[in-house]
Amino acid sequence: MTEEETTPDRTPPAGSVCRAHPDRPGVALCPECERAACLLCWLDPYDRCETCLRVDPAAAVATVPFEDAERNALGRFTGMLGDAFFPTRRAPSFVGGAVRPAATFALLTAPLLAMLAGVIPFTHTLRFGPTFAVTPIGAPTQDALIFDIARAAGLGLLVHVVAAAALAVCYVSLIRAYGTHEERSSLAIRAVLYRSWLVPLSGSAGLLIAVLGWSLPEDPNQTVVILLSIVLVVPTILLFVHLRAVARFAAGTSIVMSFVVVVVPFVFMMAAEGLLQVGLAPLMPDVERPADLLVSEDG
Ligand SMILES: [Zn+2]
Ligand SMILES: [Zn+2]
Repeated sequence: MTEEETTPDRTPPAGSVCRAHPDRPGVALCPECERAACLLCWLDPYDRCETCLRVDPAAAVATVPFEDAERNALGRFTGMLGDAFFPTRRAPSFVGGAVRPAATFALLTAPLLAMLAGVIPFTHTLRFGPTFAVTPIGAPTQDALIFDIARAAGLGLLVHVVAAAALAVCYVSLIRAYGTHEERSSLAIRAVLYRSWLVPLSGSAGLLIAVLGWSLPEDPNQTVVILLSIVLVVPTILLFVHLRAVARFAAGTSIVMSFVVVVVPFVFMMAAEGLLQVGLAPLMPDVERPADLLVSEDG
């Protein structure tokens, strides 16, 4: 393809003004309504003005990879995982689909990662790390070991299901309140379900931080820690940007509200995670409770 085919000329006629804001100069000619759009209204990634996007968001971009009938099962699955790394690209396409495929995708991805995330922090009979060392604590039997790992995986599932549910309930209700698209409830549920696998990867109880603690050497180089800490926030950022883009370009919230409807659910999710961790503290291995230490020192 030539350059001209990939980037069509959208220069508006000289002196044209925005369709929605007659006081602002047009910066691009919308191919849908053939009218000019100002800098605020022109949405370059979707190649149309905001007014046209709001009329029919799903028409702006191709459907999400998991629902693309042209792909085979593996292509749909891997395409959907890869799509998470381009969190704004397909935001309008979350409109107009069913909740069922999104729920299927969530079940195929999130529970497994949530269970894996539980193994390192919640296993009592094994000590993980540093530098990928695994040492038994005491002399557990094989049955005890299997039971303990299964229990740790179950706790991981519990923590991350609660976190994802807190995020979902809060996000969907705020989108219902502040979105304008008539299908905003189902598109918000779809948006959370398709990215729910990012929840067990992120956060203080997440899989990435557990694996990081396990893999690093005893006395880690501070530069490595800082660099890896930046990597740790990537899933959180991808999830945040995705939910914000869906709020703005699919559900039709204002710019300001598109941030509010995501910040509040994130705070709510972190609070739920924190409360649950306090509740689960007695079940955590290697808990050094000051009261116990004082008693043992006195004895
Ligand atoms: Zn337009
Ligand atoms: Zn405008």
